[in-house]
Amino acid sequence: MKIVVLVKQVPDTTDVRLDEKTGNLIREGLESIINPDDRHAIEAAVRLKEGRSGRVTVLSMGPMQAIDVLSESIGMGADEGILLSDKAFAGADTWATSFTLGKAIEKIGLFDLILCGRQAIDGDTAQIGPQVADYLRIPHVTYVCDVEEVKKKTITAKRRLENGYEQVRCALPALLTVIGELNLPRYPTMDRLIHACREKAPIKVWNAADVGVQTRQVGLEGSLTHVIKTFAPKFKREGEILNGDTKVVVHELIERLKKSEGATACKAFSSTCKL
Ligand SMILES: Cc1cc2nc3c(=O)[nH]c(=O)nc-3n(C[C@H](O)[C@H](O)[C@H](O)COP(=O)(O)OP(=O)(O)OC[C@H]3O[C@@H](n4cnc5c(N)ncnc54)[C@H](O)[C@@H]3O)c2cc1C
Repeated sequence: MKIVVLVKQVPDTTDVRLDEKTGNLIREGLESIINPDDRHAIEAAVRLKEGRSGRVTVLSMGPMQAIDVLSESIGMGADEGILLSDKAFAGADTWATSFTLGKAIEKIGLFDLILCGRQAIDGDTAQIGPQVADYLRIPHVTYVCDVEEVKKKTITAKRRLENGYEQVRCALPALLTVIGELNLPRYPTMDRLIHACREKAPIKVWNAADVGVQTRQVGLEGSLTHVIKTFAPKFKREGEILNGDTKVVVHELIERLKKSEGATACKAFSSTCKL
């Protein structure tokens, strides 16, 4: 079984802070890690390979330092890594990112399954998986929390919904986006990490020419969306504690709410409580 896993290097934080002037992410003091969902995708791929013969290729697009996430993936059991790195890829929106990843997968050749995380903790769009599947014209299943059965031509997966689960069978090749509930990712082993960091490590770096794309098709130039402004919302917390006899205080609160924007909600509240 030939599996391609998409992995993204992200800053080690869910509290993404932005520079107010430039709108750029503040990266100072932040470590880079494999996007958390992607670790579950790697674990799933390695388990699927262990149960049958196969090959796991991890693919990432990013700056040269993203090679670290490929080494770590190989440390966890992936067979090879490919980094898409080129100045031309910089500033890509999700469409240009998916297009570039799709082109690289076409170059990798025949595959049975593509696994990726549901969502990256920095970009947060959850668009890459479905967009890559669309580019490759293959079916995709999102929010996968269990891979129940893999046959030669089909895969059965359980996906998490807001109020339950859904069991889905689809034809292979397919793409799954996975969530943390799927498995417990293993730690990389020391011998495999050393193997991944050796001079003859099974990691390739491909540029725009290698994947057969022109500069105008990728990166900022190839992006269909343009970010006008990026900013964090300002939260203002102004609390006031009303002290005193409960009945008096509750009435005072209701009177104040009536005068505020929440007047309609307050009406419903006071009639329910019969105060
Ligand atoms: C106009 C515009 C300009 C942008 N400019 C920049 C920029 O200059 N620099 C920058 O860093 N970002 C930039 N971005 C953000 C960048 O487009 C997204 O980070 C990227 O497309 C992935 O989207 P996401 O992070 O929402 O991933 P999601 O869709 O949330 O990720 C889901 C999964 O897809 C896979 N995946 C996502 N990204 C990659 C990747 N790069 N390689 C391999 N697998 C991946 C992972 O498995 C991940 O778990 C820009 C976005 C826009 C709209």
